[in-house]
Amino acid sequence: MIGKYDITSVKARQILDSRGNPTVECDVYCGKGFGRASVPSGVSTGSHEAKELRDGYKDYNGLGVLKAVENTMLIGQKLIGQDVRDQSGIDRTSKDMDGTPDRSNLGSNALLAVSIAANKAAASAKEAMVFEHIGHIFTHAEPVYATPVPFFNVINGGAHAGNKLDIQEFMLVPKAKTFSEALRISTETYHALKKVIAKKYGAEATNVGDEGGFAPPLKKTEEALKLLQSAVRKAGHTKQISFALDCAANHFHKNGKYRLDGKTMAPEKLIKYYTKLVDDYPIVSIEDPFHEDDYPSFTALTKAIGDRIQIVGDDLFVSQESRVRQGISEQAGNCVLLKPNQVGTITDAFQTAQLANQSNFGVMISHRSGETCDDFIADLAVGMGCKQIKAGAPCRGERLAKYNELLRIEEVGIEHVEWFR
Ligand code: PEP
Ligand code: MG
Repeated sequence: MIGKYDITSVKARQILDSRGNPTVECDVYCGKGFGRASVPSGVSTGSHEAKELRDGYKDYNGLGVLKAVENTMLIGQKLIGQDVRDQSGIDRTSKDMDGTPDRSNLGSNALLAVSIAANKAAASAKEAMVFEHIGHIFTHAEPVYATPVPFFNVINGGAHAGNKLDIQEFMLVPKAKTFSEALRISTETYHALKKVIAKKYGAEATNVGDEGGFAPPLKKTEEALKLLQSAVRKAGHTKQISFALDCAANHFHKNGKYRLDGKTMAPEKLIKYYTKLVDDYPIVSIEDPFHEDDYPSFTALTKAIGDRIQIVGDDLFVSQESRVRQGISEQAGNCVLLKPNQVGTITDAFQTAQLANQSNFGVMISHRSGETCDDFIADLAVGMGCKQIKAGAPCRGERLAKYNELLRIEEVGIEHVEWFR
């Protein structure tokens, strides 16, 4: 007899992501439940990330994922009969089949699709919301849930836009009593920003980049920060909205030096530059201020201003427990950006988050620049008790899927965390 939690079938297919590139979607069925998940993909990826598998032949310019889809089905065959609530068992099965530390055999896209789809199927069989199921398997106790502070990427640069801004993301960080209030004031500011940009640069400058932020023809960091200040003033939210940056500094690093805003800087000079920005603008968080292997500069910046602002490692940590462990021991940063596809399974993401939690490091859940309308990371943030999430601008369906899921979670009585530190 088939039990309500027994996996009965797993299907997978190739679909397209928000950039029109192929990605993996997976369906998991169990006795009394169903879960569907699809996998995002980054463009400013860290070299230490788990590897997504791409076909490499001419269809879709080599970006097809038919092989990864096949691999998802192979994993699925092994999972038939397994209890869908046993997340670590499911993820162990797929990792054993892959057999590599960077998931390069079957592909992190194959592993993650089935990991998340199984998680959603378990929630569905339990008749629970996905965040509740995550809460129970993450803490194994009575979890305390809250909606996270959203970080809205409203000006896009770097690898995400066709302008000349070196810094990749300029984000609004709202302080509000409820999630819906945070969403409202940030969205009002986003619309004010559109007007400010149109007035200064013309309507054609209000086209949006990969993550829904505007990509006006700016060259310098401070030009973008000034636009944000004007928008916040225009919207009337100066008291509630602060700023955050994702520098994605891999892209302006060469031979130990950083080329930012037309200047070539050694790390010590760049630290002074960031400190001045933090003095002059309401910046509360900076992600990837240095290259992915430059732990010493992360440590120096944390020593200089880590008590005033959050310093986030994305390409530095790539969500990997071992790299976060090094960061903790060297006090390199004080927050981990958590992107499930950088590790390939939910269990791995849990382990990294648990380590960060024990060590007083923050955890920010993150989307990728190439996304789908899968809203799983919203539930992941709430279920794991993360106080912050970044999912792009309040624009484009694949970004709003996450924010709208947080509205649904608020509707069932989940309070807002208000602030992330
Ligand atoms: C990021 O760098 O934080 C990001 C979301 O971009 P990508 O997905 O391109 O790595
Ligand atoms: Mg980043």
